[in-house]
Amino acid sequence: MTAPGPEWIGSLIAAHPSLFREGSLFEFAVGEGWKGILTDLCAALEGLCRTDLMVVQVKEKFGGLRFYIQWDQLSPEDGQEAAGDRVDELIRAAEAKAWDTCESCGAPGETKRMSTLCPACRARFQREQAAFDQDEADLVDADSYVAASIARDLRAAREQAGLTLDQLAHLVDRPEALVRAVEQGETETSLEYVDAVLRACAIGG
Ligand SMILES: [Zn+2]
Repeated sequence: MTAPGPEWIGSLIAAHPSLFREGSLFEFAVGEGWKGILTDLCAALEGLCRTDLMVVQVKEKFGGLRFYIQWDQLSPEDGQEAAGDRVDELIRAAEAKAWDTCESCGAPGETKRMSTLCPACRARFQREQAAFDQDEADLVDADSYVAASIARDLRAAREQAGLTLDQLAHLVDRPEALVRAVEQGETETSLEYVDAVLRACAIGG
């Protein structure tokens, strides 16, 4: 069966056709750092030779590994009950190991702020986050820079035309308070307003 996502997940699924059956798996989304844990777990589960056992979901939640299966716990065959205990045991052990394993690179890790990472990967993610935040801040700065620049241009145009705020307000048919606020960069303006002011200043000049 094929699953979208990284190649290692596709290979793991392909290597265990008895665990990952067509239509049974609806999510497999964890970082490659847990590849070793999942490779061992799948091999161990397959070793139990339970034909009723299917993996339905593998994911990360609050920094922990979640491995969900579907199986027939009430199978009447001899020895099946004991094997069932072993299934739980293997899954719990893998999930416990993931709490101490970096989900990104597989090095010893620690769970903090709902993610399990080693110090190096955590620092890298924090740097990437900081760079992203800085980009966002730069965008905001660019917006206010443009607003301030429009405000200056409009004021310069009015002064060059020798118009007072009151006269310009009259010409563009807007309240004087608005004309003043726009020139001080205190309010957003439209292209239409900028056009009206520049036309009025051209006439006034
Ligand atoms: Zn790491």
